[in-house]
Amino acid sequence: MRTSISDVNTLRQAIGERASGEGFSAVRIVKLSADPLQAERLRQFIAQGHNGSMAWMAETEARRASPLVLWPEARTAIVLAQNYGQDLDPFERLKDKGSGVISLYALNRDYHDLVKGKLKRIAQWLKHRTKKEIKVFIDTAPLMEKPLAQKAGLGWQGKHTNLVSRDIGSWFFIGTIFTEAEIEPDAAEEDRCGSCRACLDICPTNAFPAPYQLDARRCISYLTIEHEGHIDSAFRQAMGNRIYGCDDCLAACPWNKFAQASHEVKLMAREELKAPRLADLLALDDVGFRALFTASAIKRIGRDRFIRNALIAAGNSGDAGLVPRVMALLGDPAPVVRAMAVWALSRLIGEPDFAQLRNERMNGETDDGVRREWETA
Ligand code: SF4
Repeated sequence: MRTSISDVNTLRQAIGERASGEGFSAVRIVKLSADPLQAERLRQFIAQGHNGSMAWMAETEARRASPLVLWPEARTAIVLAQNYGQDLDPFERLKDKGSGVISLYALNRDYHDLVKGKLKRIAQWLKHRTKKEIKVFIDTAPLMEKPLAQKAGLGWQGKHTNLVSRDIGSWFFIGTIFTEAEIEPDAAEEDRCGSCRACLDICPTNAFPAPYQLDARRCISYLTIEHEGHIDSAFRQAMGNRIYGCDDCLAACPWNKFAQASHEVKLMAREELKAPRLADLLALDDVGFRALFTASAIKRIGRDRFIRNALIAAGNSGDAGLVPRVMALLGDPAPVVRAMAVWALSRLIGEPDFAQLRNERMNGETDDGVRREWETA
């Protein structure tokens, strides 16, 4: 039996209504196919080592390279945008050096469960309606969502490699539903960056070797969230008080003038995370960290990595009032914490005091990385 044009339009319209009813800001449809160009870009990204210690990217390269490897029977993807915009100026937040800055997307309760629940409801409805199988993906599957979203017309990958939408800017998560059903696709979006290079020029750590290429190893988002060990001293000053992620390249994009704060996200907002005091964060033990970041994406990086980041912010704060808190962390069981406590103190106390401290503490240090900090800080 042939599907009529009016049936097709009715289904497309019904998907749009369902998505909007669940609070998604935009929805687009794309026919799934192999994408050799994106597969080659991914291959180069990994071959150049730009994925840093994110070994899982290389491990899942074959599946990531094409959505059809992930699920060969899939025919169509429905790509949805969940706005997480807030009425906060990301650049203003960086000026309060006594606070730690957490990336906008992590200022709310963890979005995974919320968005996954919404996607599943739409997917179940679609399965019932089309009698075809479905699968739901958000952010954890080996799927190149951004190029797929561009093909679907949700936006385009800007020079910072993130997705930009003419309608809603860049503050949004992408959720995806795959279906075996064939549904009339939308037109792909075209690149509208033009000669603008605001996102490239604002980057504090020069993480873009070229437009449309990101070297994750230099990106503060990667360094503060994904990277487990010591953070290279070359990046520490540039991190300022960013302790979880970085919003600069997104915030610099002029298309964000179309972004709107999300009412739904406002309801999930964690006010206490908007400008947490470094003095309080540095006092967190494992139990305190878990309690503060219950139901938050931040919990996943663990207390030690988080305190490492907060110590770098303390070192950049110029606030000698933080010295007692930092001193207490010189005896922390985690080497990444002790090392950054050494670095922070080297910036917060004068050279004679630091030299005396080095004499007192360095010989008792057993970890090579921490000893190196004492020697080089
Ligand atoms: Fe640079 Fe920050 Fe963008 Fe990373 S998130 S590329 S550090 S501006």
